[in-house]
Amino acid sequence: MTNNPLSLGHCPTCNREISQAWKLIEYERADGDIGVFAECPTCDEVIKPQENKNKGD
Ligand SMILES: [Zn+2]
Repeated sequence: MTNNPLSLGHCPTCNREISQAWKLIEYERADGDIGVFAECPTCDEVIKPQENKNKGD
């Protein structure tokens, strides 16, 4: 597995890693976090990259 610091996360649909190069826009969410929209080159759709997080940690 690679953990590329330039990665935005992974596509929720196909699980492909999405690099910074595919970032479209950033926006501030209601809770103050920064959200990102990116294009998935595999799905050819706008997606919200999902970070790999361990739930229940
Ligand atoms: Zn995808």
